[in-house]
Amino acid sequence: MSRRIYTRRPGLFDRRYPGPARLFGRVYGRQIRWAAAALMAAAAVFLLFLVYGSLARRLGSGAALESPLTVSSGTITSSLDAILNSRGLSSAEAVGISAALRKNLNLRRLTPEDEYFIVFSTAGAFKYMYIQKDLKQHFAFRKTDGSFSGSVKPVEVSAVISRFSGAIASSLWESMSAQGVAAAVILDFADVFSWSVDFLTEVRAGDKYEVVYESMVTPSEKVVSRRVLAGLYDGGETGREAAFYFKGGYYDKKGDSMRSFFLRAPLQYRRISSYFSRSRRHPIFKIVRPHLGIDYAAPSGTPVSAVADGTVRFAGWKGGFGRYVEIRHANGYTTTYGHLSRYARRIRAGKRVKQGGIIAYVGSTGLSTGPHLDFRIRKNNRFVNFLKIKRRSSSGVAARHKKDFLAAARKLLPSAF
Ligand SMILES: [Zn+2]
Repeated sequence: MSRRIYTRRPGLFDRRYPGPARLFGRVYGRQIRWAAAALMAAAAVFLLFLVYGSLARRLGSGAALESPLTVSSGTITSSLDAILNSRGLSSAEAVGISAALRKNLNLRRLTPEDEYFIVFSTAGAFKYMYIQKDLKQHFAFRKTDGSFSGSVKPVEVSAVISRFSGAIASSLWESMSAQGVAAAVILDFADVFSWSVDFLTEVRAGDKYEVVYESMVTPSEKVVSRRVLAGLYDGGETGREAAFYFKGGYYDKKGDSMRSFFLRAPLQYRRISSYFSRSRRHPIFKIVRPHLGIDYAAPSGTPVSAVADGTVRFAGWKGGFGRYVEIRHANGYTTTYGHLSRYARRIRAGKRVKQGGIIAYVGSTGLSTGPHLDFRIRKNNRFVNFLKIKRRSSSGVAARHKKDFLAAARKLLPSAF
């Protein structure tokens, strides 16, 4: 009687994989063990390949993974040649790099807004570089044969959400910018509410506001765009107004569009923003009502906007009104603008104007004691109280999106509900 003895050296997979031997018998078990080992080795190589690939991609196309590398970076404040020269590259290298970049990038269009990153080996040899312009990274890398080639890839941007809330001390601009709200966001915030709130004349100390906005940021922390996602303004004069961004538009908390037939005022916050940034003291905008219209006290030269789409009926001198513009709108409305210093280009009778478009500039022509805009509105030739006209929403969130909208809005700005 013989007993077949199966011997082999103890292997790595003996304890981990006893199963196949029992299932298929010892001989097959050994083959299965070797097959499993080969499979695992292949998997390990594949995994390493993946990790290497993602690292190489992160470093830039064409980059070899030889660490450590040294990186030199900055903004394009002089010519590319001067930058490469100051980083120790030879003029031959600079020529090769420039030629590789120029295939996809106009080097003359580089500005101090654009950034560069140059990567050297530890020995100090140039490996690759890229210039980040707008939302693209333009690469130039040295190939193994010593020549240079170029490529382009999009910058991966990520969204950062910012949230500010506060109370008005003097003006929207001062209170928000003191908190660190980006200038562009303050103007966008005013735009979102431009059909319901006049931030020039209706802001009162103690009014409360809240703004949530999204910034798209590059890996080097450069902000490429910002968007207001939600805003709240709760004022003594204005009442409580909330707005939410959804699928390309802004809506109130009921889902009605923030847009309306009339802007809240003929002097637009964004249009006069240059005054805020250029002068140390903000001009004071006030309204008085000495007649059936509204007088807006404003510095001479302040841009005047059409409050709604319409057609210019008259643009010229009209007695005590001085330089004067009359616009006819839909629904029987007519608006007039007096004491102007000058007209905007191409403003004349018959010209179509857009809501918010500049039609003229504040002045003191005609019978006027100081620079102001005389603004009046008539419906079917009868004067109406502009400030009492109800905001009429032109459209709203589609019924099928209402639930999503409300859920998103509540999440963005719970305090509005
Ligand atoms: Zn007046």
